[in-house]
This record gives sequence, C-alpha cells and structure tokens, in this order.
Amino acid sequence: LEYQKGYFDGTRRELLAKVQQSVGEKRYRHILGVESAAVELARLNDVDVEKASIAALVHDYAKERSAEEFKKVIHQKNLDKDLLNWGNFIWHGVVGAEIIANELMINDIEILNAVRRHTVGAITMTQLDKVVYVADFVEKGRNFPDVDIARTIAFNDLDQAVSFETKHTLQYLLAANKVIYPAAIKTYNRWVTAQ
Ligand code: GDP
Ligand code: FE
Ligand code: FE
Ligand code: FE
Repeated sequence: LEYQKGYFDGTRRELLAKVQQSVGEKRYRHILGVESAAVELARLNDVDVEKASIAALVHDYAKERSAEEFKKVIHQKNLDKDLLNWGNFIWHGVVGAEIIANELMINDIEILNAVRRHTVGAITMTQLDKVVYVADFVEKGRNFPDVDIARTIAFNDLDQAVSFETKHTLQYLLAANKVIYPAAIKTYNRWVTAQ
C-alpha cells in the first residue's frame, strides 16, 4: 500500500515509524491490526483505502500522552471545556486529533473526524468513521468472548457492526458500573434502538 494522495506527507513506512515512536509495543501491534482490518473493510465498502490506512494508523497515536498534555491542548485549541471533566478514554480521540494534526501534519477533516469518533461513535458517521470504529473492535489481536460474532457481522454488514459494537460496549460499561459519556448514549439511540 503506497500513499499517493497527499493526506500524509511521507510514505506509509515513515508514518509507521512516527506511530511506533508515540506508543508502546503492545499498542503498536493493536494499531497494525486495526489498519489491516480497516483496509479490508474499506475495500468491501468502497471507502478510500488510503484514508482508512492513515486513520487506522493514527487512531490511538495520542493514547499514551499525559492528562496534563491533553488539558493543555484543550485550552490551546479552545476545545469544549466540558472535555476537562472526562479522561483519557475520550481525550485520546477527540483531543488526540489535534495532536495528530500538529505533529504529523495530517489535516484531512475526514481522517481527523474518524479519529475523533473512534471511541464512542456519533449520530452521524461517515463510511470511513464506521470502518475505523469497527476495525478497532474486531482487529485480530482482540479476543473478548463475542469477537467471532463481531467479526462475522463486520465483514458482512458495516452498519450492523456499528450497532453490535455500540450495544456490546454499552452493556460492558453498565455491567462494570462505569460512567457513560453522553455521546455514547446518542450513538446507542441512533444505531441500536428501533427509533
Ligand atoms: P482502544 O483505544 O483501542 O482501547 O479502544 P477505544 O478507543 O474504543 O476505547 C478506549 C476505552 O474507552 C475502552 O476501554 C472502552 O471500553 C472505554 N470507553 C468507551 N466508551 C466509554 C464510556 O462511555 N465511558 C467509559 N467510562 N469508558 C468508555
Ligand atoms: Fe482508542
Ligand atoms: Fe473502539
Ligand atoms: Fe484502538
């Protein structure tokens, strides 16, 4: 897969090196798995394969940054101050997109939005958003009990995979008494419920 469209100013190999420098070994392996799944899902769903590769490779680029760095970026970039009430799970996508733009000079709005939406989804999701959201859930390194079902659905019906993943994640969060980010409920209402 050679990059030809200028979404990243460099080769795929050079982007891999930047990502590898930004995260630990285990997360890097996860990221490579997400890229493989995302490229496959992109081909199946007529999504730009180059955008899918880049978005997947950077989706967790900022995941290991400190809370202090995320808070600094929230202030510097004038992001919604409500973000300050949350934590790494939401910052690494929404605030991470700003860090990706700054450090990797990736400015394509579709790629950055796919990163922003990869953890809790959104009411409106592009095909690229869905590809990254679902690839993150079903990449070959994942091994939760229902992952085989999730994979079968993912490679057959992307929208149904968004629904399955959203419901599965919410069920897990509820069972574990975890706080639910409000946007996750909006995603649930749009993609899981009958209305
Ligand atoms: P990862 O970055 O590859 O681990 O995957 P994600 O970005 O999809 O999710 C990051 C973490 O956030 C996971 O542990 C999810 O279970 C968790 N998460 C997703 N939505 C919510 C939420 O609404 N509330 C909480 N507390 N955690 C969430
Ligand atoms: Fe993530
Ligand atoms: Fe995810
Ligand atoms: Fe991930």
